[in-house]
Amino acid sequence: MATIPEIRAAVFDGPGAPFRVESPSRPTLRSGEALVRVSLCTVCGSDLHTFLGRRKEKTPCVLGHEPVGVVEEVAGDVRDVGGEPVRVGDRVVWAVAVSCGACFFCTRGLPQKCESLRKYGHEAITPQCGPVGGLSTHCHLLQGTAIVKVPAGLPDVVAAPAGCATATIAAALRVGGVIKPNPLT
Ligand SMILES: [Zn+2]
Ligand SMILES: [Zn+2]
Repeated sequence: MATIPEIRAAVFDGPGAPFRVESPSRPTLRSGEALVRVSLCTVCGSDLHTFLGRRKEKTPCVLGHEPVGVVEEVAGDVRDVGGEPVRVGDRVVWAVAVSCGACFFCTRGLPQKCESLRKYGHEAITPQCGPVGGLSTHCHLLQGTAIVKVPAGLPDVVAAPAGCATATIAAALRVGGVIKPNPLT
């Protein structure tokens, strides 16, 4: 019988406190959820702000919202952003925030203001949920998470920041529109 890998997470208790390694129990997935084994997680500037106390987070929490990993368990029907089924063994990245899709803000095109917004790497640990931050061996992906399968050949270190740094740059380019060369240079 295969052994079930233990989950280990670097728990952040607040600025100045050393990280604590904990072994939370494996979450029982609800339908539409997935458990991903983290291969790599890049550190975002906002993680550093939290670590240094310039930004407040509920603690204890597991930081890190730029992970890439391999799906280890799926419950029910989990789909990627293209509508394809997400299966065990898929290498994936996912969005930093999960919105409900049904509240006042979600139905008006403002999912980032969702009344029940959850953010990976920014949530206090709860007994009902496995780690939702990337500084862990595993991440518990909640229902409604925008999941993207990583193409073969794209290195983990390139794929990992997709959920935050890369998404931020892509959004800035989209809003900025066509960028013309500066005529003064
Ligand atoms: Zn970030
Ligand atoms: Zn909502």
